[in-house]
Amino acid sequence: MKLEAVLGDITTQDVDAVVNAANSSLLGGGGVDGAIHAAAGPELLAACRELRRTALPDGLPVGEAVATPGFRLPARWVIHTVGPNRHRGQTDPALLSSCFTRSLDVADGLGASSVAFPAVSGGVYGWAMDEVARIAVEAVRGGVTGIERVRFVLFSPDSLDAFRTELDRA
Ligand code: ADP
Repeated sequence: MKLEAVLGDITTQDVDAVVNAANSSLLGGGGVDGAIHAAAGPELLAACRELRRTALPDGLPVGEAVATPGFRLPARWVIHTVGPNRHRGQTDPALLSSCFTRSLDVADGLGASSVAFPAVSGGVYGWAMDEVARIAVEAVRGGVTGIERVRFVLFSPDSLDAFRTELDRA
């Protein structure tokens, strides 16, 4: 599996699946979630509402992942995952690790070969970027899947540095 980190906007990535740092409601939010919904179009919110009506009446639990189509995105699928929110006392690294491994499992199940991740929990949910990077890289390296390429798409030079530092570790 090839791992890389780039500076950019996840909504423009030409990969099979992009991961969304969603919230449990799946009904939209700010940050990367808002950007993905804006770029994918209103069909994405409709698909999320349908998931809530059917499979996930109580919302998506922290650390879990679920797929929808990507609609107007270049990516064929969006994998929604819910990161732990430090401001709500969700400080267990296993929850954040699970976001990455479960998202890869879901992508693999769909037959995706390339996946782009944002820095889940590294924004409003308050995790330090070096911690997000360490947990993300470790989780993805430990996952055994048919995914060929994982791209971390970072929104600032500092977060790119944090991910590059982890990727450079042997
Ligand atoms: P969370 O609530 O899980 O912390 P946020 O969306 O607040 O999620 O932030 C996660 C990370 O995504 C932050 O580092 C933020 O700067 C970054 N981000 C925001 N918009 C985009 C985008 N369009 N593409 C990639 N990363 C983004």
